[in-house]
Amino acid sequence: VDAVLKALGPVALPRSAVVATIRRELADLRESGEIPALERIVRRVGEALDRLGRSRLQPVINGTGVVVHTNLGRAPMGAAVARRLGEIATQYSNLEISLDSGERGARAAYLEHNLALLCGAEGVTVTNNCAAALVLVLRHLTRGERREVVISRGELIQIGGGFRIPEILEASGAILREVGTTNRTTVDDYSRAIRRETALILKVHPSNFHMSGFVESAPTEAISRLARSRRLPLIEDLGSGAMVDTATLAGIEHEPTPSEVLRRGVDLVCFSGDKLMGGPQAGILAGKARLISRLKKESFYRALRCDKLVLAALETTVDHYLRGELDDIPVLRLLRTSNRELQERAERIVSALAGLPLEATMGTGNSCVGGGSLPRTEVASTIVRLRPLEMRLEELAERLRRATPPVIGQRSSGRLHLDLRTVFPGQDDALISVIRSVYQRSAL
Ligand SMILES: *Cc1c(COP(=O)(O)O)cnc(C)c1O
Repeated sequence: VDAVLKALGPVALPRSAVVATIRRELADLRESGEIPALERIVRRVGEALDRLGRSRLQPVINGTGVVVHTNLGRAPMGAAVARRLGEIATQYSNLEISLDSGERGARAAYLEHNLALLCGAEGVTVTNNCAAALVLVLRHLTRGERREVVISRGELIQIGGGFRIPEILEASGAILREVGTTNRTTVDDYSRAIRRETALILKVHPSNFHMSGFVESAPTEAISRLARSRRLPLIEDLGSGAMVDTATLAGIEHEPTPSEVLRRGVDLVCFSGDKLMGGPQAGILAGKARLISRLKKESFYRALRCDKLVLAALETTVDHYLRGELDDIPVLRLLRTSNRELQERAERIVSALAGLPLEATMGTGNSCVGGGSLPRTEVASTIVRLRPLEMRLEELAERLRRATPPVIGQRSSGRLHLDLRTVFPGQDDALISVIRSVYQRSAL
């Protein structure tokens, strides 16, 4: 171990992590019965350390055109949020103290006040993510005799990896009571399913796919009337949580907002903080004050609450909305960037890549919102297309991924596409030098 450690020279990882990696690699070699020369061991350990180092969280350049990309951290946050995070993270704060009385105060009081305004809701609270918010609601409302959740077969959806509505229901101790068919569910279907064991009616926004053809779903207003007449809560999992009318953003169809859903008679709506809203990971619950305050008293709530950094980031994001500072929310700024501006940047990038054994061209592309929102929407965009002349496309893509900062693109018909809508203008120079550096290394 010592010999390998010395031969490696300085490594930018904690020494104990380096030693553990060396031990593991040596054990693997011993097991395979191989005893290679020191030089080969050092190379192998070096590669293992590189892999470990790359798995550390680091900024990447998103050339995929998917604005809310779950694998790339969903919504990036703006400068004001970053400043607030710095302040709150490094000092003590009034997280749970009332500065008026000096007594213990309510956590997130300011956030809940302003978020309720933004959502047009009587009450609001926040949890770790939208999945947690849904579990909290289901656990609270399904108990004793009443455990059945009435839901349309057309809304038993899966969102990304590991989030399936039927499984979430089951994990929360609720019993699924499916109504209607995959493509058609009427108010009568809901009505017939309600009985003594019914705890609530759940609507789930089919956020990541679109059905067309012989399709019918019951209007929320009608389900709401039914729920009220049978004295049942109506809950909607909205998913994305657009806080502005998305139809006012170029080329994007309308996505229901929480306030719209509440106006249609839903008692409680939940959505993510880090999708279209453009904030930190959080689950937001908005609706009837009476329900919200009961949820906050639930013992399980304590296990799902957000930490102070999330609260600080969300507070700042909400205030941006209330002040109409939409360009301070990166997700919205990226979606609102004009194609003309993207074209000018693409031209500059393409000409800066001249001289490399690479065919770089500008093209038109389609960005999308992603993160399980607005599946039909494509936003016209501008891409830089790269076709390597002296290496395989796979290799170029891999080298760009392993560069600092890593660049993630999309392969399409023999080219690597980099969609500039999701590349911040301040990253253009880094993008150029990463592409150039990939070629410098290949020359060695
Ligand atoms: C994305 C999504 C969720 C999960 O949200 P998280 O914040 O990732 O937990 C739940 N429901 C719907 C409809 C969604 O689109």
